[in-house]
Amino acid sequence: MTAEVSIACKYESFNALVQINDPDQLLEAFLSQLTPDYNGKVETEIFERKGFDWHKMLAHGNSTTDFDPQRKFILEHKISPEQTSSWFYQASQGGWYCGYQPLSNKQYAMFFSLENQQDEIIDEAYVQLLFGFYCHQLCGLERTYRDTLTGLYNRKAFDMRMTALLEKGDSPARRSNLARPAVFVMLDIDLFKQVNDEYGHRYGDEVLTTVARLMVDSFREYDLLFRYGGEEFSAVLMDIENEACIQVLDRFRSAVEAHQFPKGHSLTISIGYSDFDRKLTLEQLIDQADRALYYSKEKGRNRISYYQDLLLQGKLEAV
Ligand code: GH3
Ligand code: MG
Ligand code: MG
Repeated sequence: MTAEVSIACKYESFNALVQINDPDQLLEAFLSQLTPDYNGKVETEIFERKGFDWHKMLAHGNSTTDFDPQRKFILEHKISPEQTSSWFYQASQGGWYCGYQPLSNKQYAMFFSLENQQDEIIDEAYVQLLFGFYCHQLCGLERTYRDTLTGLYNRKAFDMRMTALLEKGDSPARRSNLARPAVFVMLDIDLFKQVNDEYGHRYGDEVLTTVARLMVDSFREYDLLFRYGGEEFSAVLMDIENEACIQVLDRFRSAVEAHQFPKGHSLTISIGYSDFDRKLTLEQLIDQADRALYYSKEKGRNRISYYQDLLLQGKLEAV
């Protein structure tokens, strides 16, 4: 390690990474900590897990030639789908792998090779140190922003991400994220108090975990899923037109209804949603979806209501 190597992070804090689900940006954030002029001097590649295979997505440095998104790669060490971050040396390629899952349902591996670097700007011990540090930071992020019971984003992450999405700035990330229609959804388990009263809180907790898993299975990878609090969940469905939205939400609603919970128990969920209108404040957006949710409850539960539809039909009044 040379004395000049700077580990000052371009991003003010690692917390900024929580907002980065884009592997390209994550790679940049990582590399920016290596040295100010890393560009082209080290080989880095990003792989995405698809089932049990890894596919190359991005390459920086000297390795940009054989780029084939369909090609599968074998990692010598297994990174399990549950593992959020880990690193190891891959002898056959003479480089380091770091697996990470930056608070999304996707899993990436970053390959980092020092073989072809021209002027030995970085030594291996330093890379090990950095990977270790990086994994540690990611674990910290996971602990801070994930709900420990369900594994979804927690309320703290909700506040942070929603505020960022509603920010009036005009960053490229924000433009590309929100150029297409999105919806904000509130979901509440029906008569959940009865479940606790009848079967106990531990059983209730198991139900919450199962409902969260059904959410992950029903929605797409890039939708944001949160445990809002207690037995209430929320979601931002990205890039979705209203018709598709109804289908997706109804797929989830019926998945919950059809699920056989332990002891042959079944339950339902009520849903309210609203257009993700960036002109609104967070409070207004929550209020709209909440009012649609309470309409679903009033009308007998186990149903979906759309705020803008209710307004059009005169069933709710605009505030
Ligand atoms: P509704 O259909 O009107 O939503 O009825 P409900 O019984 O679901 O509504 P209410 O909001 O009155 O009750 C929610 C209950 O959720 C209260 C509490 O016992 C339970 N609850 C909240 N958080 C947790 C949790 O983390 N674990 C367990 N087991 N229960 C929880
Ligand atoms: Mg509730
Ligand atoms: Mg409830």
